[in-house]
Amino acid sequence: MNLELLAGNAALKKQLSAQAAGRGLSHAYLISGPAGSGKKTLARLMAAAMVCTGQGEKPCGTCPACKKALGNIHPDIITVAGEKGKDISVGQARALRADAYIRPNEADRKVYLILDAQTMNSNAQNAVLKLLEEGPPYAVFLLLTDNPGALLPTIRSRCEGLSLAPVSPGEAQDFLLRRFPDKSANLLRSEAFACEGILGTAVKRLEETGQEADPVPDAALDLLALMAKRDELGLCARCVALEKLDRDSLSRLFEALLSLLRDTLKLQAGGTVDPLPAQVKAAAKVLPGAALVRCVSLLTDLSLHADFNVGPGHLCGALSAALAQALEL
Ligand SMILES: [Zn+2]
Repeated sequence: MNLELLAGNAALKKQLSAQAAGRGLSHAYLISGPAGSGKKTLARLMAAAMVCTGQGEKPCGTCPACKKALGNIHPDIITVAGEKGKDISVGQARALRADAYIRPNEADRKVYLILDAQTMNSNAQNAVLKLLEEGPPYAVFLLLTDNPGALLPTIRSRCEGLSLAPVSPGEAQDFLLRRFPDKSANLLRSEAFACEGILGTAVKRLEETGQEADPVPDAALDLLALMAKRDELGLCARCVALEKLDRDSLSRLFEALLSLLRDTLKLQAGGTVDPLPAQVKAAAKVLPGAALVRCVSLLTDLSLHADFNVGPGHLCGALSAALAQALEL
């Protein structure tokens, strides 16, 4: 079985692969583990494997059934979850039971993913229990939970247990590098450690930061504006605020500021800069060329140091000092 997309959990992968190659997958699994440990990833891969029409290891990832399954649009893979963050109702459990007796549309099997299965009350669980005991042979039930103890013992005993374990920092890093190829390796490394084995936490955080605007271009323009005002305190405060950036971002910031300084010099020399930021225009008016050249030279030195293993706090302090020195503040 191809479970490459799930990080870590080597023993569990081995167990499932052996089962898939041998007697085949069961009709009911209880997938447990803390929030963010990969329960949904595993369930989706298992569901895809069960509808896959490709040859060799499943899910093949390329057949039409796999594409639909991994795109969450396969008609024979049904997700059951409480509506708007609520519990799964008895009505939903009964609807599931009725649906299970309708034969699959396309695949040989019909797979139900029951998310947060522990939110079913005992009536809802009993409705599902009947299916686990005597459901149609093509139906498969994947119950996901972060609290298996909240499920009836009768439900638990009818399911094969798959318990997801936290992953090691190395496994987390490998996974994040594949999942976020555009993000800096430094950022991914620190997230891999910070998530403490719960990959979902890291993925969520990285997806959220991905939606934020890149702070680097604005920071470079801010610094140039403060330089034009010869605002020593302002520069110092802005540099301190930059300490939260990782070293890759700081390195890009140095490059961005250098590029703005070169544009300022170019403008002073009568050249054209297009587009022309207001901050460059203002700096070209007030900052002496000699000071700009000193800034370029000091920043170039600093950006060379940024490639070595120097902490962000130290780099920001050095940046603040370099700019004040160049401007003779
Ligand atoms: Zn396939």
